Amino acid sequence: MKKSILILFLFLISFKISYSQKTNKPKLVIGLVIDQMRYDYLYRFSEKYGDKGFKRLLKEGFHLENTHYNYIPTKTAVGHSSIYTGTTPQNHGIIGNNWYDKSLKQSIYCVDDSNYNSVGTNGTSGQKSPYKLHTTTITDQLRLAQNLKGKTISIAIKDRSAILPGGHTANAAYWFEGGEEGNWITSSFYMETLPEWVIKFNNNGNVEHYLNQSWDTYYPIETYTESIIDNNPYEGTFIGESKPVFPHNIPELKKLNDNFSLLKMIPAGNSITTDFTIAAIEGEQLGQSNEQIDFLAISYSSTDYVGHRYGVDSKEIEDTYIRMDLEIARLLTYLDKHIGKNEYTLFLTADHAVAQTPNYLNSLKIPGGYFDDVKFNEYIKSLSLKQFNSDKIIENISNYQLFFDKAELKRLNLQTIDVENFFAEELLNFDKVYKTITAHTLQTSEFTQGIYGLVQQGYNQKRSGNVFIIPDPSVIGSGNKKTGTTHGSGYSYDTHVPLIFFGFGIKQGSSNKYYPIIDIAPTLANLLQIEFPNGVTGKIIDEALEHN
Ligand code: ZN
Ligand code: ZN
Repeated sequence: MKKSILILFLFLISFKISYSQKTNKPKLVIGLVIDQMRYDYLYRFSEKYGDKGFKRLLKEGFHLENTHYNYIPTKTAVGHSSIYTGTTPQNHGIIGNNWYDKSLKQSIYCVDDSNYNSVGTNGTSGQKSPYKLHTTTITDQLRLAQNLKGKTISIAIKDRSAILPGGHTANAAYWFEGGEEGNWITSSFYMETLPEWVIKFNNNGNVEHYLNQSWDTYYPIETYTESIIDNNPYEGTFIGESKPVFPHNIPELKKLNDNFSLLKMIPAGNSITTDFTIAAIEGEQLGQSNEQIDFLAISYSSTDYVGHRYGVDSKEIEDTYIRMDLEIARLLTYLDKHIGKNEYTLFLTADHAVAQTPNYLNSLKIPGGYFDDVKFNEYIKSLSLKQFNSDKIIENISNYQLFFDKAELKRLNLQTIDVENFFAEELLNFDKVYKTITAHTLQTSEFTQGIYGLVQQGYNQKRSGNVFIIPDPSVIGSGNKKTGTTHGSGYSYDTHVPLIFFGFGIKQGSSNKYYPIIDIAPTLANLLQIEFPNGVTGKIIDEALEHN
């Protein structure tokens, strides 16, 4: 009798444990980052969207309509790092895609790491790791919280967009190698050889299939009334094209545009990202267990390549988002079927937004333009010679920052603060400079709002420069190119992005309260009941969460 009561008791306990694990946590968390997606794309093209993609997320999920990046520069590596660490470059250390390394005295790339080997390619493009990221990510925290039982898999066409979201403990990050290869690859940081499912995927002929099709509009082009005329002077072209117009003859353009790399630059690059994601869910059995929570970090990169070349107002961008909507629909439908409706939590956001093409704005009498880097460098050189009788004071100019040569300052017996103040004052005279600020000021004052606050959040004392330049609104640096557009500023057109939470643990609704992008990670941590990333400065977005 006693024994059977004990057995019943144990049975009830084990039932309670598995029951509560199943109901209090999702099986899978999915982070969806759409590279360069502006907030207004959710609405600008909404007449062309179906019911199962963006519109479903808006209807069933919780939309934070006023979510912004809260630092400068709004670039890809920085955006992905800030989403996943819940903090800004000040703390996580990723201050750009590339930056000037003060101790190495050379420009470095955010995820390069020659301590590791390529896996899946004979080239060097697999020699990567996240070691320059100084803090942990939400993906790291989930791995730590479960004693490394849950899996993290991270996927993007761009290496940095796969590696940084995966954090330091991802089981795998995969990215796409174009050129002559057309394969998904990784680094020995994660593994020594590609898993069977990746090898199989790389051999399935998908890449060739996509590149054998012309890129034409999904719907008849005359219905694309949300964008300007197809043949306009504000768009770039592929090499080998004389006009930026549909249809783009991809099979013919392939050779001139670095073969398989062309796939990155057209909407089919997003399709293959979904294909690979679904293969990863199956290959890694993600979200199949009641005992653990897995994390799948996906970033769609082709939207960014299209945006840079054609700009916000192009037919190409409209078509790219119509097709992006179909990819979201395909992924959600798959997740419902294979993970289970409401068994997963998903968020969708972007790593930055983008400026409208300055030349197009100028044609409408809106100010804006192009920052002349060449003249700027000459101007600095002449100032330096005139004032200090030396042209070696500025060691590097990059990311709108001046880096001083400390040895030269010492040799000339100059105080850093005096030289910083001199350039900050004089550079205001240069065309299209709006404001300047010195490292000294950033170290000794605290800005809680405004554009200086954004510079400060992007300022990392160890890695950043001495003087910062903030260009006027709608001014972009572009070299000689006067077509297409870019991002990087602290203005709303670059900082304002969609943020939708969806699925398990998420309320239905929307809010137009301001939230910084760094609130995503602590919100997820709260939902998952795990510790925050170790550098977190964001807060929990309470109104989006269901409270059981
Ligand atoms: Zn980006
Ligand atoms: Zn970009």
